[in-house]
Formats: sequence, structure tokens, C-alpha cells
Amino acid sequence: MTTKDEQKPALKPTKILRCKNPECKAWIRDIFTDKEQLEQTCPICKGPMLRSMKHLPPVQNKIKRAPRKKND
Ligand SMILES: [Zn+2]
Repeated sequence: MTTKDEQKPALKPTKILRCKNPECKAWIRDIFTDKEQLEQTCPICKGPMLRSMKHLPPVQNKIKRAPRKKND
């Protein structure tokens, strides 16, 4: 048995939008949606999306602005 503290990020109820189409598994975090757009469309099937909640690990706000790496 390993006793290392494997820190699993606590899941938090997070606002998401999910595709209305039950066949389609697409969903996006609400914070990643385009607020200008009132109606979100599914990135996959272009159908309408529903507001929903999902338990997700919290997003780190640090957006890595990875500067272009030289060939490495
Ligand atoms: Zn879809």
C-alpha cells in the first residue's frame, strides 16, 4: 500500500453547459463559454446546449501562456 498523499483535487459542483442531444457527450465549463453569445451551440453537433452542473476538479486560474518553445 502506498501511503503517499495522493492529492486528488476535491471535486466541486461546477456550472457547465451540456449538449441537449443525449447521443452527444459534449459539454463545456460555463466559464469557458463565450458570454457574448446568448445561445451556446455544441462544438460537436452544433445543437443547442443546456445549463447543468457537474462535479469537476477546480480549474486553476493560471492560464499557462506558454511562450513558444524553441524546438525542444
Ligand atoms: Zn452536441
